[in-house]
Amino acid sequence: MGSAVLGEAISAIRDWSIGKEQTVGGPSATDSFGSLVFNDGVQEKRLPKAVYHALRRTISHGEALDQSMADAIAAAVKDWAVEHGATHYTHWFQPLTGITAEKHDSFLNPTTNGKAVAEFSGKELIKGEPDASSFPSGGMRSTFEARGYTAWDPTSPPWLLRSGGAVTLVIPTAFVSWTGEALDKKTPLLRSMEALSKQALRILKLFGSKAERVITTCGPEQEYFLIDRYFYLSRPDLINAGRTLFGAKPPKGQELEDQYFGAIPDRVLAFMNEVESELYKVGVPVKTRHNEVAPSQYEIAPIFENANVATDHQMMVMETLKRVAPKFGMACLLHEKPFAGVNGSGKHLNWSMSDDEGNNLLSPGANAHDNIQFLVFCCAVIQAVNRWQGLLRATIASAGNDHRLGANEAPPAIISIFLGDMLTEIMEQIEKGGAKSTKSGGVLDTGVLALPKLPRDAGDRNRTSPFAFTGNKFEFRAVSSGQSISYPNTALNIAVTESIDEIATLLEKAVAGGKKLEAAVADLLPKIVKQNKRIIFNGNGYSKEWEKEAAKRGLLNLKNTVDALPQMVTKETIALFEKYKVLNQREVHARFEIMVETYNKTVNVEGNLMVLMANRYVLPAALEYQKQVAHSVAAVKAAGGKSVEGKKLLDKVVKLTDDFKRRTDKLQAALEHESNSAEKHAKHFRDAVIPAMTAVRETADTLESIIPHEVWPLATYREMLFIK
Ligand code: ADP
Ligand code: MG
Repeated sequence: MGSAVLGEAISAIRDWSIGKEQTVGGPSATDSFGSLVFNDGVQEKRLPKAVYHALRRTISHGEALDQSMADAIAAAVKDWAVEHGATHYTHWFQPLTGITAEKHDSFLNPTTNGKAVAEFSGKELIKGEPDASSFPSGGMRSTFEARGYTAWDPTSPPWLLRSGGAVTLVIPTAFVSWTGEALDKKTPLLRSMEALSKQALRILKLFGSKAERVITTCGPEQEYFLIDRYFYLSRPDLINAGRTLFGAKPPKGQELEDQYFGAIPDRVLAFMNEVESELYKVGVPVKTRHNEVAPSQYEIAPIFENANVATDHQMMVMETLKRVAPKFGMACLLHEKPFAGVNGSGKHLNWSMSDDEGNNLLSPGANAHDNIQFLVFCCAVIQAVNRWQGLLRATIASAGNDHRLGANEAPPAIISIFLGDMLTEIMEQIEKGGAKSTKSGGVLDTGVLALPKLPRDAGDRNRTSPFAFTGNKFEFRAVSSGQSISYPNTALNIAVTESIDEIATLLEKAVAGGKKLEAAVADLLPKIVKQNKRIIFNGNGYSKEWEKEAAKRGLLNLKNTVDALPQMVTKETIALFEKYKVLNQREVHARFEIMVETYNKTVNVEGNLMVLMANRYVLPAALEYQKQVAHSVAAVKAAGGKSVEGKKLLDKVVKLTDDFKRRTDKLQAALEHESNSAEKHAKHFRDAVIPAMTAVRETADTLESIIPHEVWPLATYREMLFIK
C-alpha cells in the first residue's frame, strides 16, 4: 500500500520514538493499587462499624444485606466518589451481548433554591432501571415486561472510571427481568458458585474441615494483537469486523518464533505500562506481560481472584486495553483470529476452588490425608469435563473462535484433559491399585493414594491441550480472546458441582455405613477413573492421529459453532442447570438463541463487508492493474515488438479478475438467504456463505501477491504485523 496511510504510520512511530517516552511512568504501583476502588480498607474507614461488618458477612458468606444498611453504604460510597471528583454513577452490567453496558446518572438533584446537591440513596445503589429493552433477552421478556432491572452485587467492589475527563462511580450489578430471570452473564455465575460451594463443603466436611464456604478462583490470561492505528483505520474489515477478511500471507510469518517472549518494543511497553497503571488504580491485580507467538501479539494476565470479581476484572482488562491503545497511536484487537495464517488469540481460563481459609482444593498436599482430598476433587473435575465436554465446547463457540480452534497452534475443537505424566501415572495406579484394595476388604493401599508432593514442573506443559492441569489448577485454554469468561466459568462450575454432589453422596453413604473415609475413597476413585479416563490425553492435540483416536474413544469433535451450540440445550444440559438452580429452561434457551443469532449476525456482517470491500477496493485495483498491463502489452506491440511474458501476465490478471468478480457475485447471492429458523439460517451461513467467503479471499490474496504496491489499496500483513 503505497498510499499516505503507510507514511502516516511510519511517521507516527518515528515521532513516538523521538519524543514521547518521557511522558510515561507515574506514581509507584504499590501506592496507586486500588486507589480508585471502594475496597475493604475504604469501607472499614468510612462505614459505621455495624454496617461494615454486615457488608463483610455479605461479601464473604453471601448473606443477604439488610435493606437498612444500604442507605449508610450509599452515603459513604457517594461521599468517597464525590471527593474523588465523580459527578455521575452507573450500574455496570453484562448483558448477553458479551460486552458490558452502562448508563450514567448524575448524583446531582436540584434543590428548591435553584441549586443542586449530590444525592445517592440506598435504593439507587441497590437497584437501577436502565431503559434496556433493546438488549437481547432471547425472547425472555417479550411475554412479560419489556424492561429489566439492575441489582447491586456487593461482592464486587464499586470503582471509579476516569475517562474523557469525567469521573464516574461504577457499581457492578446483575441484570434481571421483573420475573427474576437472568438477563446477564453475572447472575448465573453467582448462582453456580453458590451451588458449587454447597456441594464442595460436603466433601470438606467428610475430611474434617470447618470451612463455611468454597469459592471458585480464576485467573484469565488475555492474548491480544496491537497494531498501528493508521493501519487499523485504513481497513474497513478491522474496524467493522475486528478481523482482516483479506490479506496474503507475508513472506515472513511467525516461523522464526523470534517474537515469543522477545524484547517488547518501546511503544508497546509504554502502552502496557499505562494499561497496567490504569488497572492497578481500579484494583485489577495484573501481573504478567509478554510477547506472544505471533508477530505483534501480546499477553496480559492478572493474579487470580474470586471468580466473580475476576470476571468483572476481566471485562475491565478488555475495556482498558481498547481504550488506552489509541493514546499510543495503536489499536488493540481482541478478535480470536484477526489475521489468517498466524496464531489466533485465546484466553486461558485458570480455574480452581478454594475454601474460605484460602486453601486451594486442587493443590496436591504434603501428606496422605490432603492428597486423598486433592484426588477426590481432581477426579470430580475429570468426570465433569468428560460428561459435559459438549456443554463446555458450546460455551466457547462463536464465529470468531471457529477460525481459531483447530488452526495454527490453537487447541482443537475436541475437549480433552492434559494431566501431565505424573498425575496420569497416579490415575493409572488408582485404577489398578484401587481395585486390588477393594478385594482386600477396602483397605487402602497407601502406596497409591499417599502420593509424593507433586512438583509444579513448567516443562511438563502441553500447549496443545484445550484443558490442562497445571500443578494446582486447571487451565481451560479453548476459551476465546474476545469473549466474557463468565459462561465457560459457569458451565465448568456446574459440571463440577454435579460430580462433587454425586461423590459426596456416595462417600457420605459409605461412611454412614461404617466404612472408613479412606477406604470409601479407595473404592470409589478407581471407578471414576475407569469411566472417565477417555478424556485424558497427554499427546499432541494438534495432530491428525488425535482426531482419529478421539473418535475411537467416543469423544465429541464439534468443529464449528453450528455443531456445538445445540449441546447447550440438550435435555441433560437443561436438567443440569435446573437441578442446581443456575438457569431455568427459558434462561438456557435464551442464551442458546442469542448465541445462534450472534453467529448469524457476525457472519452476515462479514459477508456483506467482504462484498463491499471486494467491489470497492480489490476489484478496482485488479482492473487498474489489468489496464496497466494491457497498455504495456499494446505499447510494445505498437512499437513493433512482442511481449510474450507480458501477454501471459495479462491473461493471468484477466482470469484472476474475472474469477474474483464471479466469486464475489456468488457470495452476494449466498447472502440473500432468508429463513424463519435461526438455526437453519446458521447452517446456511456455515455451508454456503463461509465457503463462498473463503473462495473470494483466495483469489483476492493471489491478486494481492501480483498487484503493485502503489495500486493495492489495503494495508498488508507484512506492514500491519511488522511495522511497530
Ligand atoms: P502460566 O505459566 O500458565 O502463565 P502462571 O502461574 O503464571 O502460569 O498462572 C497463570 C494464571 O493462573 C495467573 O493468572 C495465576 O494467577 C492463575 N492461577 C494460579 N493459581 C490459581 C488458582 N489456584 N486458581 C485460579 N487461578 C490460578
Ligand atoms: Mg497459561
